[in-house]
Amino acid sequence: MPVTPDLAVSAAPVAPVASSVTAKPTLAGLTRAALADFLRAQDVPEREIRMRVGQIWHWLYVRGATGFDEMTNVAKTLRALLDAHATLQRPEIVREQVSADGTRKWVLRLPSRSAHDKGAEVECVYIPEKDRGTLCVSSQVGCTLNCSFCHTGTQKLVRNLEASEIVGQVLVARDRLGDYPGRTPPEGAFVPDDGGRFVSNIVFMGMGEPLYNYENVRDAIGVLTDPEGLQLSKRRITVSTSGVVPEIARLGAETGTMLAISLHATNDPLRDVLVPINKKYNIAELLQACRDYPGVSNARRITFEYVMLKGVNDSLAEARALVKLLKGVPAKINLIPFNPWPGSIYECSDWEQIERFSDLIFSAGYSSPIRTPRGRDILAACGQLKSDTEKMRARARLMLEEQLALGAD
Ligand code: SAH
Ligand code: SF4
Repeated sequence: MPVTPDLAVSAAPVAPVASSVTAKPTLAGLTRAALADFLRAQDVPEREIRMRVGQIWHWLYVRGATGFDEMTNVAKTLRALLDAHATLQRPEIVREQVSADGTRKWVLRLPSRSAHDKGAEVECVYIPEKDRGTLCVSSQVGCTLNCSFCHTGTQKLVRNLEASEIVGQVLVARDRLGDYPGRTPPEGAFVPDDGGRFVSNIVFMGMGEPLYNYENVRDAIGVLTDPEGLQLSKRRITVSTSGVVPEIARLGAETGTMLAISLHATNDPLRDVLVPINKKYNIAELLQACRDYPGVSNARRITFEYVMLKGVNDSLAEARALVKLLKGVPAKINLIPFNPWPGSIYECSDWEQIERFSDLIFSAGYSSPIRTPRGRDILAACGQLKSDTEKMRARARLMLEEQLALGAD
């Protein structure tokens, strides 16, 4: 399945939001506890902290404030103090692209953490649909796992995102979509008819393995679902994991979010190749963790993602094996057409085969939507994030090195 560049779109990206390099920390994206710590460090009296945190929280997450001067109910002296020591800066937008289908992708630069770290880049993608606006967020720069069909796993640089950097992606999306009361949404945004937000759903399906960055993901979910802040529903947040079994129970217990499992194979030998973490936690252990997932029921099913790889995992015998395997697990199956990337060793299954596979699962009583590829013209689909910039360059460098090595023989 080729990626068709839409020049009309990519030639006219929306101007990036410039941000000045500053040593001051940003308060945007912080948890209540981190905000309180910051205020304490500025010698704000302990008796005021709770109230001040509540005020800043409201301005940040309900009103979308981008400057302390907007916080009119905060005492002027405190505003000046905050301004002297902090910012409300979001992750810097390196690039913003809008697809012909309304999908939006932001490449974000995160501040460097050390002299060697030049500032990592991550991506997040907004997918408007009729009944929802979904933001796909990243939890890590790169990924330490090496699923053989996934481009993110080939990326060298890996670091965990802070909770504030995860929340920062949502703030960027809301800023750029004008997702605050009384503002006009840009073209292509999902417009809720119940007064809800344009970003109504969050999926942790961008770069990285969220359960290898558990604490930050949990804290970010806490900020996103806070009833006095961003107010996203737990049921509208889905965390996708390749199968980090030991963290699954606490994700359910501590966050109450929906769970998605990147299954992709119905037997261990094949899953060992496609999703190598399977060698550590096999299919049987993974499915047991799913059966035990806190709050799981027929009304709150687990989504099983299954990437369609031609001649690898797409036979009808495998569709039958999938149905058998998931017996007794409240499940939805999500078939993902494989997104090829330069150098990938797999091909996407033929469309007719994906449909036959889906029909078989459907007739066994499962809903089995085929994930419609979105934003392909801006390389916004699963497994393609960052493929057009850093990794292409890395791959080109590798090829050049190989050629040079061959030439030297
Ligand atoms: N690390 C987590 C979440 C990020 S990946 C996980 O693996 O679940 C989100 C989804 O995209 C996963 O189901 C992943 O297997 C899938 N994916 C990765 N690369 C892909 C590709 N090239 N084509 C289609 N789906 C892909
Ligand atoms: Fe990491 Fe998920 Fe990609 Fe596997 S599929 S390499 S776990 S991002």
